Amino acid sequence: MQLTLEEENMSQIATGNGAVDNQGAPHQLTAADRCDACGAQAYIRVVVKNSELLFCAHHGRKHQEKLASIAESWHDESSRLLEDQRS
Ligand SMILES: [Zn+2]
Repeated sequence: MQLTLEEENMSQIATGNGAVDNQGAPHQLTAADRCDACGAQAYIRVVVKNSELLFCAHHGRKHQEKLASIAESWHDESSRLLEDQRS
């Protein structure tokens, strides 16, 4: 979708000038977010006991079974992976 690309471009441009309030979009994962397990780009954010875990799509799936029952929040942007790979 074009919208996703535009949002990413805008966030890159806006980085550092403070014009964008990140609190307005707390769930947007960026290329700077890295998987805690392997360092790949993170597409899944999990909150467990007030600490945040980031996973790539692969490790998100791998740990989902174990973490899903205790996670307070499970945010999955792995559907964006399909769009990113297409370009
Ligand atoms: Zn990973």
